Amino acid sequence: MRPARNVQASTVSAAADAQLTSPIIAVAESNKNLYKELPLGTIRPEGWLREMLLRQKSGSTAKMDELYPLVMGKRNGWLGGDGDQWERGPYWVDGLLPLAYILKDKELIAKVKPWIEWSIRSQTADGYFGPQKDYPEEAGIQRDNSRDWWPKMVMLKILQQYYSATGDKRVIKLMTNYFHYQLKELPQKPLDHWTYWAKYRAGDNLKMVYWLYDITKDQSLLQLGELLHKQSFDFTDAFLNTDFLQKPGSIHTVNLAQGLKEPVIYYQHHRDPQHLEAVKKGLNDITKYNGMAHGLYGGDEALHGNNPTLGSELCTAVEMMYSLESILEITGDVTYADRLEKIAFNALPTQISDDFERHQYFQQANQVMLSRGMRNFGDNHGGTDVCYGLLTGYPCCASNMHQGWPKFTQNLCIAQLMEEWRHWSTVLQN
Ligand SMILES: [Zn+2]
Repeated sequence: MRPARNVQASTVSAAADAQLTSPIIAVAESNKNLYKELPLGTIRPEGWLREMLLRQKSGSTAKMDELYPLVMGKRNGWLGGDGDQWERGPYWVDGLLPLAYILKDKELIAKVKPWIEWSIRSQTADGYFGPQKDYPEEAGIQRDNSRDWWPKMVMLKILQQYYSATGDKRVIKLMTNYFHYQLKELPQKPLDHWTYWAKYRAGDNLKMVYWLYDITKDQSLLQLGELLHKQSFDFTDAFLNTDFLQKPGSIHTVNLAQGLKEPVIYYQHHRDPQHLEAVKKGLNDITKYNGMAHGLYGGDEALHGNNPTLGSELCTAVEMMYSLESILEITGDVTYADRLEKIAFNALPTQISDDFERHQYFQQANQVMLSRGMRNFGDNHGGTDVCYGLLTGYPCCASNMHQGWPKFTQNLCIAQLMEEWRHWSTVLQN
C-alpha cells in the first residue's frame, strides 16, 4: 500500500464532507444530472498525480507499439491491418489518449491520431465502423470476431474523449450513424451474437448513447438505449433479487466491474430509484462476500470470494475505477468517491511497477512472494499471474491498465459540482 492522502487536486475527496452532500444529492434526484464532465485537458494534475502520469509517459504507455508490436504495431486491425482485430488495440488507446491530452504532449497526441483517423474513415455506408474481416488463427493475436459489438464499445469511449479534447465534429457524425446501425442490427444480431462480453458490458455502450443524446437530442438514441438495456445482463434485478454475488463462479470479475454502472447509466433516463438501490446493494454485497483490504474483490477470472489467497485482476481495478467515476458523475454520492480513492491508492499502484513498465495480472492482498507458481486461483495462466512483467498472466491487462490514472485525473473535478462547491463554500464562509 502506498499512502497518498496529500492530494493537491482531490476536489472529490474534499466534497466528502457529509454536511455538504445532502443538498447536492437532493437536487441530483430531480430529472437532470447535476454534474458534467469537464473537457479533457482542462484539469491539470500537480504533485504526485502528475508524477504518475509522467511515469506512464516514460514507461510502457507511451511505447506499447514498440514493446508489444505483434498486437499494437501497424498490423493491428484498428489501423487497417491483418493483425489483432479485437479489444487490445483500443484498450491501449483508451489510456494513451487521455494521457496525451491531459499532458498536452504533442508526441503522444501524434501517436493516438492514426487510431482515431482509421476508425473514423472505416465507417461504411450502413453506419458500421471498425475491423470487419476475420483472419485465420495466429499465435498471440485475436483475429476473429472482428464484427463483435464489444471492442467497438472501447473505441466509442476513446472517440468520446477525443471529442471532449478537440471538438472534432466527425465524432458526432460517426456515432450517430453507428448508433442508427446498432438500432437496426441488434434485433437480428444481439449483444451476445459473437461473444458474451458485450452482454455484460453494454453499460459502456449505453453511456455513450446517452452522452450523444445530450448533444443531438436524436430521439432514436433513446430507443437504442432501451434495446441495449433489454439485451444487457439485468444487473438491477441480479443485485436486488438474486444471491449471485454469494456464489463463486457466477460472473467474470471484469464483467462485474464494468456492469456495476449499468443500472445508474440507465437511471439517467429512467428515474426509478431501484436502479440506484441496486448498485448500492451490489457494491455492499461485493464487499461483504468477496471484499479484500485493497478495495476490490476475489476474482481470478470468475468471482471467487474473500480469501486473501485469491487473486484480483488489474483490469478489474481500472474498470471498477471507471465505473465508480461514471456513477459519481450521475449520482454525486460520495460513497462512490471514497471507494474510488481506496482502489486508486491501494489496488492500482501496487499492481504496476514504479516505472510503469511491468505489472501483475492478479494480485494477492499482502502477498510478498512474487514468484512463479500455481496459486489458489480459478485460472493460473502457466503460474505467471503474480509475477511482474510486460505480458505475464494474460495480455488484456497489459493493454488495459493505461486508463487508470488518466481517467482518475479527468474525474477529479466535475463541472457543476464545482459550482455547488463554490456555492456551499460561500455559505460556510458567511
Ligand atoms: Zn485484464
